[in-house]
Amino acid sequence: MSDSPSSDPSDSASADRTAPDPDSAGTHTSNGGGAVGFDRHDHARCIATALAAAERHCAQSGLRLTPARRRVLEILLEQHRAMGAYEVLDRMQKEGLGSQPPAAYRALDFLVSNGFAHRIEGRNAFVACVHPGERHLPAFLHCRSCGAVAETRGDLYGSLLARAAEETGFGIEETVVEAKGLCPTCLSDGGLSGQSTPGKGEPGAI
Ligand SMILES: [Zn+2]
Ligand SMILES: [Zn+2]
Ligand SMILES: [Zn+2]
Repeated sequence: MSDSPSSDPSDSASADRTAPDPDSAGTHTSNGGGAVGFDRHDHARCIATALAAAERHCAQSGLRLTPARRRVLEILLEQHRAMGAYEVLDRMQKEGLGSQPPAAYRALDFLVSNGFAHRIEGRNAFVACVHPGERHLPAFLHCRSCGAVAETRGDLYGSLLARAAEETGFGIEETVVEAKGLCPTCLSDGGLSGQSTPGKGEPGAI
């Protein structure tokens, strides 16, 4: 049985980020190519699809979706919002799933390296993937006020950058596509939503 190596969580430049086999995306329902996260949608279906994709990919690849890994994915899936590692750890501690930071880091590292979650570089936080089971470059619309994150396809930007890199002889190790701003809810609130608890939910230093 091959399992995910417990690599150093600070090693974010690792190129070993394999997305699940696109052929395994049997039950995926297209969302029309738009960003998933801000609009009204069947979120229960989001959760069920992502968990099913994770279970299928793990079964096919001989990976172990341990209770802690599965629970961390469920926690990330609860909302389309970026969560810091310490926020995840806090939930795990309350549920008796591991009280040491490495437990949360290892579970998050497993989810990211297998394509079930993404790391938001700009905030050192994590979000569940909305296209599980599909090979893709994620692009994020990230609300700076409430932390909501919508994910869309960044493949077009990825190929533009790849072409520029090829022309200049640059070797890309990681591509991040992220826009920061205000989500529809915060825009209609005048950008005040989520600011009543400053620092709450902010990722701690890793
Ligand atoms: Zn959803
Ligand atoms: Zn994704
Ligand atoms: Zn917002």
